Amino acid sequence: MSNSFLYKLSVDYLHELSHPQVMTVKLYEADPYLREFTATITKVEGDWVVLDRTGFYPGGGGQERDRGTLDGRDVTGIKGKEEISHQVPGHDLTVGSQVKGILDWDNRYGLMKAHTGEHLLFSSLSRRTEMELVKISLSKEKKVLIVKGHLDWDMVRDAVQEVNDIIAAGAEVTCQHVDRENMGEGGPRVKLDRISDRMVRVVSIGDHDSAACAGVHLKNAKEIGMLLVSKFTSAKPAGDWEIEFLVGPEAIRTAVDHSVRSLILAERMGALPQDSLTAFDNRDRELTRARDSLKTYGRLALSSLQPVKLGERNYYSGSFTGLDRKLVMDKANEMVAGGGSVAALVCQDDKTFLVLACSTDVRLDCVSLLNSVLSQHGGRGGGKPNFASGGTAGQVEASIIIDEIIRLLKMS
Ligand SMILES: [Zn+2]
Repeated sequence: MSNSFLYKLSVDYLHELSHPQVMTVKLYEADPYLREFTATITKVEGDWVVLDRTGFYPGGGGQERDRGTLDGRDVTGIKGKEEISHQVPGHDLTVGSQVKGILDWDNRYGLMKAHTGEHLLFSSLSRRTEMELVKISLSKEKKVLIVKGHLDWDMVRDAVQEVNDIIAAGAEVTCQHVDRENMGEGGPRVKLDRISDRMVRVVSIGDHDSAACAGVHLKNAKEIGMLLVSKFTSAKPAGDWEIEFLVGPEAIRTAVDHSVRSLILAERMGALPQDSLTAFDNRDRELTRARDSLKTYGRLALSSLQPVKLGERNYYSGSFTGLDRKLVMDKANEMVAGGGSVAALVCQDDKTFLVLACSTDVRLDCVSLLNSVLSQHGGRGGGKPNFASGGTAGQVEASIIIDEIIRLLKMS
């Protein structure tokens, strides 16, 4: 035995003597349905108290810690693996005293449903594609699974159907401790590099899923009620997927709401619900075609504008409905590119949009001219001395605007 090894042993021993670690009995492991418990304080360090036994799950495996009270005071933090410490701000507890712990049961039971549901969802998705778990995050407010793999909407739908079939059939959840030496290929899902103990706790849901897990679970999958994926979107980095889900009454309420919205959408598309996606794609293509046509005709109409003489200047003006604003601005720039020209183009949609441009050799402040017209109709704009654009508060007849510009140009 080397000297350095002996030295380390003695240092560890001295550390143990000055900071004795007391194992806290994890009542939630034997009975995850325990809502209240009594315990004895074994250590006090400021706001933090260690108990000889606890029903509070300190969090882990992506699941948020429990919420609740110790002797009526809020537990605002829980830490430790073997010696579990509870943060109770303002407490007057001392070593040896008895305390009563009460869990926020609604919160815990919801998380047990989410956690057990997450086991089922992950294994159902894994059966359909090669997949790797990146992160789990389960709280009252949000339940998220981030995975890496080749997933699509069909797989998500099939997996959610399967999970709900398992829930409806009522699969039993069981725990057993297995020697890590016996956990081989085809066995439970496990990341042995993250586990130091020889015996690994394995949680099984019927014959649907088996995974190493130290968390709190339901007795039977039936208690989940329902599981619904409420969001499926690509997450950063590329190749990762974020899957948000709901369980229990919240899943049912949301499923009903989403279903009614999808029926309304199908009705507005004039299609059967099962055909609504195809109907949407057709409508989308029609819209793209209509936009392209409008652009083509818009370009033609803008190109056919002929200037009139206003003093020494060439003056272009015109009014258009529903044209792309950028197209109108580009054309105004083209019209004044040759020198000695002014262009005033009005574009009508739900508001009235005005573009005013002049050649660089024309001494005109387009911004102030444009604003003196638009301000009469509750509008404003901005830009540079030879190019300005802006809109009115509502729709204004184009001829009123164009006449006003001509009047002001004649004065300038
Ligand atoms: Zn688990």
